[in-house]
Amino acid sequence: MSEKKEPVFENRYPFEAKIQVNEEKIREIRENYIKISKINLEKMRRGKNRAANMAYFENALLDKTERIKELKEFKAKGGKVIGIFCVHVPEELIYAAGCVPIRMSCGFYDTIAPAEEILPKNICPLIKSSIGFNFLKVNPLFELCDIIIIPTSCDGKKKMAEILSNYQEVWTLEMPNDRDNEVSREFWVKQVRLLKERLENLTGSKIEKKVLKKYILKLHERTALVRELFDLRVGQKIVVDGRDVYFVLQTAFFDNPIRWMEKVRLLINELKKNIQNNKVIVKESTPRIIMTGSPLIWPNMKLLHIIEESGAVVVADDSCACGQYFYNPAELEEWSMKSMLEALSDKYLLPVVCPVFAHCDDRIDRLLELIEKYKADGVIYHILRLCQVFDFEYIKISKLFEKKSIPLIKIETEYSEEDAGQIKTRIEAFIEMLEARR
Ligand code: SF4
Repeated sequence: MSEKKEPVFENRYPFEAKIQVNEEKIREIRENYIKISKINLEKMRRGKNRAANMAYFENALLDKTERIKELKEFKAKGGKVIGIFCVHVPEELIYAAGCVPIRMSCGFYDTIAPAEEILPKNICPLIKSSIGFNFLKVNPLFELCDIIIIPTSCDGKKKMAEILSNYQEVWTLEMPNDRDNEVSREFWVKQVRLLKERLENLTGSKIEKKVLKKYILKLHERTALVRELFDLRVGQKIVVDGRDVYFVLQTAFFDNPIRWMEKVRLLINELKKNIQNNKVIVKESTPRIIMTGSPLIWPNMKLLHIIEESGAVVVADDSCACGQYFYNPAELEEWSMKSMLEALSDKYLLPVVCPVFAHCDDRIDRLLELIEKYKADGVIYHILRLCQVFDFEYIKISKLFEKKSIPLIKIETEYSEEDAGQIKTRIEAFIEMLEARR
């Protein structure tokens, strides 16, 4: 084990800004998080023939007592909890090091204003919300994190890493800007190797080949399960809506992975029965939507509510917070540590359709593949205000879709409910147009 301790952030000029929020306000924000989560779930329960197995995921989100107890016991035995952002962090390595990852991205409006005390207002709401959420300890799970790993995906994430590193230990995972060349790939493989070393230094024990293999295979199972769930949405009989799928995937951000997989298995079995028994949630002629663009993260369900309450259904997405999250397996032929690390590097870089890379044509390939496979009627392109990387790509995609006569609508918004009415009007008109095209 190398004694050489990798320097984490060395802030020679500490960022001493503090969020001045009193305990009363923090309590109010925490209560509001639960309140909004309950409102979301109440809206999602209104659908007919909703799968009964959704109840587990609701409880897991609303009452994290059991998960917190599990993680506290795990830490008491010396375990480490690792906060992660984005889809680029090799979870297999974290599990194989005897640690547990918790995904920290956040979609909560109430933590934006406090965060703006220490951040510029003109940055994407996801960054502000996540920093506010973290500072105000709204989610007790975040307090259990020993380390936070932040990939340097977009500028917002880079600067968030710097700011958070003034308050807790942050490791960055440096992303190459281009991934279609060997130099970038080698650079990324080195980053993944460095992460392995850091995890070994953190835990004081080596990551063994057989343990890493075990977790690669376990997450293969998870990927296969998620693909099986997604494949249930290809057919005309719709038994689960987009909101429920986003919700189920996002409970995996913090839930015990083994228990989560067992519950998803039960959900899939129930949905398969519902298809057999024609226990559908909407009629077959319901316009089928593909979601793309900036991530929709709980509890920011505004756009998904509007789409599915306006008479359409989301059948697939390429989101880093849903469709993309568990979709790609690590591919390898032999199980040497070298091959496993290279396969993990490729898994978390090559198939990822995040627009932070210099070239992202495969994101368009993936979108066209989803439109065809899920027989979509239209695409809704969500942009979080000031999310430049997704905005940059919109023009190119809209021109191509125009040529291919694929209906596309751009919805630029943020976490507040202020523009919900206006968005609803546009979405209703879009859905009417899709129905007229049928
Ligand atoms: S939504 Fe866009 S700007 Fe915000 S963190 Fe994600 S990629 Fe970065």
